[in-house]
Amino acid sequence: MTIYTSKYPSVSIPSTNLYTLLFRDHDKFDPASPAFIENASGVSLNRKEVKDMTLSLAYGMRRVLGAKRGDVVMVFSPNSLSWPVVAFSIFAAGLCMTPANTAYTPSELAHQLKDSGAYYIFVHPALLPVAIETLTSLGASPTEIKKRVVIMALARESDASTAEVNAGGWIQLEDLLNKGSLEREESFEGAQAEETVTLCYSSGTTGLSKGVMTTHRNLVSQTLTTLGCFSPLDPKKDSFIGVLPFYHIFGLALLVLFPFCAGTPLVICPRFDLAQFCSGIQKYKITVAIIVPPIMLALVNSPIPVEYDFSSLRIVMSGAAPLAKTLGVSLDKRLRGMGVKADIIQGYGLTETSPGVAIVRTEEAMSKLGSVGDLVPNMSARLVDEDGVDVKPGQSGELWVRGGNVMKGYLNNPTATANAITSDGWFKTGDIAVRDDDGCFTIVDRKKELIKYKGFQVPPADLEAVLLTHPDVGDVGVIGIESEDRTTELPRAYVVPKSGYASLPTQKERETFALGIQKWIEGKVARHKYLRGGVVVIEVIPKSAAGKILRRQLRDLAKEEVQMS
Ligand code: AMP
Repeated sequence: MTIYTSKYPSVSIPSTNLYTLLFRDHDKFDPASPAFIENASGVSLNRKEVKDMTLSLAYGMRRVLGAKRGDVVMVFSPNSLSWPVVAFSIFAAGLCMTPANTAYTPSELAHQLKDSGAYYIFVHPALLPVAIETLTSLGASPTEIKKRVVIMALARESDASTAEVNAGGWIQLEDLLNKGSLEREESFEGAQAEETVTLCYSSGTTGLSKGVMTTHRNLVSQTLTTLGCFSPLDPKKDSFIGVLPFYHIFGLALLVLFPFCAGTPLVICPRFDLAQFCSGIQKYKITVAIIVPPIMLALVNSPIPVEYDFSSLRIVMSGAAPLAKTLGVSLDKRLRGMGVKADIIQGYGLTETSPGVAIVRTEEAMSKLGSVGDLVPNMSARLVDEDGVDVKPGQSGELWVRGGNVMKGYLNNPTATANAITSDGWFKTGDIAVRDDDGCFTIVDRKKELIKYKGFQVPPADLEAVLLTHPDVGDVGVIGIESEDRTTELPRAYVVPKSGYASLPTQKERETFALGIQKWIEGKVARHKYLRGGVVVIEVIPKSAAGKILRRQLRDLAKEEVQMS
């Protein structure tokens, strides 16, 4: 067995509640310093307010709502000022948070709600109609819906509840605040640190989205190991901009948890808007921007950034999807042109690893562009072939990792868990990587069926299940193809008409059929799952003897089509 270990010094991980870690250094930081700031309005919460509100809301969740330790609470909201406070309160109260993608349709949300077993849903006012439709589709009565929904907005937030919502008799965050304070947070010492604290959803290597059981220990480990590999942060000088969605583990761990633990403020953007993002960097003298490759592309190609002062920026980190070296070089060039010298680094991880696996050191930013860097502290890795045998140094293989960041397993799915984690604790990432002589990894391919559109997960099985409900679809296989600008994958469906391929004899007929399917899916799934890579009519979906879709053959087909066009 060839086991690679991190070159970072190892970090000791206490068995403790995530809440305890978040406020561990509370007394060291200025209580009046801003912790979370709304980008557009400048409205903020200081560190003392965050602590007081967290304990007050945790009390409200337990004693007013009546949630019990271990209960699952869904959070369905874009990034907002109340988001971190709700999350911290859930941790303090000993509950478990399942954050949902805000682009979800009611049927997608229903899957997560049912699967996670969440009773309460904390909902942003703008998403209330989706939550109501979801709960109704699951058979909840209007009275039950009113009991389960909490409107997630603080009075001071610019997006606070509308008059209509206020008049609707819904439970508001303010109804749960100031009723008392959870004097002492729930204890999670010893083995209790293994209790699940978040359930983010991921399809893993195959199938539908599954609840990833992330424990207190996982997120304590994630936060402390990230602190161990970032160059020291100065609470008085450093600040982060929070544009990535908090419901994704990348946003949750690196924006909601990590900066707070380091004592640095986070400027919150509800969604990505380039001008707002750039103005936030200038206005709040942002030093760390954690983004995804499509945002990097916008920073490189748009005329907007050059109108702003980015001189405060010192680190730009990309993650969640592959960052092409050329794109990193272009951003470096553009920033230099604006008089900015920032280190452009890449991180790599998965929902199942909370998410940190590897990160490039800032000192190696330029020399390792395109690589995902060294393993984070405490993480070990192997590169294995199809048979689980370690490949020779320098060769590519599937990346298996082991460490405190690796999830406990998939909720209610022992089979998927056993397929993902070996009996000796190795988690199979489904990504193909190579390791260079300096110990840095580069992700070169993906073995699993997952598609990523701009960093968002598109499980092919999700789309296939929906497409099979179309009355004219006989069979279907979904894969990802590379976009023309090579910055993202695009979901593409290969479809066999129910009436058979021969029933559409001309190219024109097949194209019309394909376009119809492409349009039909819109509105039935979240926007990031739209079939932007097109629909192609074929005679038969290649399958193994066991009936498994042979996606490699579909991918080869797509490559041939590109070569022919
Ligand atoms: P998620 O669970 O949504 O975070 O998706 C995890 C998957 O995203 C990984 O298994 C990779 O396929 C992909 N991914 C994440 N970060 C990177 C990266 N820096 N380079 C290449 N692929 C990445």
